[in-house]
Amino acid sequence: MIETKAYAAQDENTPLAPWTFERREVGPHDVQFDILYCGVCHSDLHQIKNDWFPGIFPMVPGHEIVGRIVKVGEHVKGFKVGDLAATGCLVDSCRVCENCKRDLEQYCLNGNSQTYNGLEQDHKTPTYGGYSNTIVVNEDFVLHLKEGVDLAAVAPLLCAGITTYSPLRHWKVGKGHKLAVLGLGGLGHMAVKFGVAFGADVTVLSTSPKKEEDAKKLGAHHFVVTTDPKQVEAAKNSFDFILDTVSAEHDFNMYLSLLRTDGVHICVGVPPKPAQIAAFSLLGGRKSLAGSGIGGIKETQEMLDFCAENNIVSDIEMIDIKDIHTAYDRMEKGDVRYRFVIDMATL
Ligand code: NAP
Ligand code: ZN
Ligand code: ZN
Repeated sequence: MIETKAYAAQDENTPLAPWTFERREVGPHDVQFDILYCGVCHSDLHQIKNDWFPGIFPMVPGHEIVGRIVKVGEHVKGFKVGDLAATGCLVDSCRVCENCKRDLEQYCLNGNSQTYNGLEQDHKTPTYGGYSNTIVVNEDFVLHLKEGVDLAAVAPLLCAGITTYSPLRHWKVGKGHKLAVLGLGGLGHMAVKFGVAFGADVTVLSTSPKKEEDAKKLGAHHFVVTTDPKQVEAAKNSFDFILDTVSAEHDFNMYLSLLRTDGVHICVGVPPKPAQIAAFSLLGGRKSLAGSGIGGIKETQEMLDFCAENNIVSDIEMIDIKDIHTAYDRMEKGDVRYRFVIDMATL
């Protein structure tokens, strides 16, 4: 077994603290890589707090993981020792269901293996994430990174990147479309970058007037402060798509009123409590409410390659792992600019 250093929550009421555990030995199809950087996703915070469902504890969060390979199994074909490697939100899936066969492992019908707070495909062994010094992953769930990239700024692409790239590609958002990105945090700032790269006219809908300058720097064409009723009124019936990245309770009916006829409100944010949606908010203007979860492995690689070709990375604030709780506090206040990334050398 491989002795692994980590930061873990022992239960939903206890702060993260140093913890050691054992990862499996590198199997014939496994890759082991030492973790250099790990992004901090709002999902980490939701899960250590049991916001969505009772979690599996001890919990080692982290699913935006990048590093360098230290060992490969004897049958591994795609990777060698010394290569850069990355892992996102998934470490395995059943491989045989209709969704897995369509490269949609994120929707595996038999239950995929999430990188942490999940179970391996034996449906017994808990998974532990990237707030740790090393990880062992089946090679089919390891992503390739090009040498020379800004590794720390690439880490958030593994979740914030793919979670926004995938729906924008699925709904073919691009030239001629008006896209609103709701919430300018980790996911939101990546959605702005992708929306702009795909040729859409991008508006940020934000509760934080102070983020306007940043939004414009990220490439957004317009900025609407959603706490200002006048600005909201002026934005009614204007968007083809809203990509909703909000992590907390919010009024869907108000945001649906900003869509044009046939507009689509796509949920990627996962507030802990269910929302109340009036049928009238949808039927007036034949609107759709949709959702999207991360992305499959093939599409994640496509996204990473697209980012490398187009010089897209995340805007990050590097932190020491000891400061993880300060980062969480700021995240709860919407004060993320625009992704915290842990320098794993500080573990
Ligand atoms: P984040 O960095 O904390 O950003 C969330 C943003 O939402 C905040 O910066 C804030 O932006 C806005 N916001 C917060 N509270 C709000 C409120 N009450 N009303 C309106 N806006 C509010 O979080 P993240 O890491 O981007 O994650 C966002 C959500 O996506 C989380 O729920 C996370 O669990 C979920 N997620 C889902 C998937 C998926 O597969 N679908 C994947 C990853 C994450 P402003 O300051 O601009 O208002
Ligand atoms: Zn995430
Ligand atoms: Zn499956």
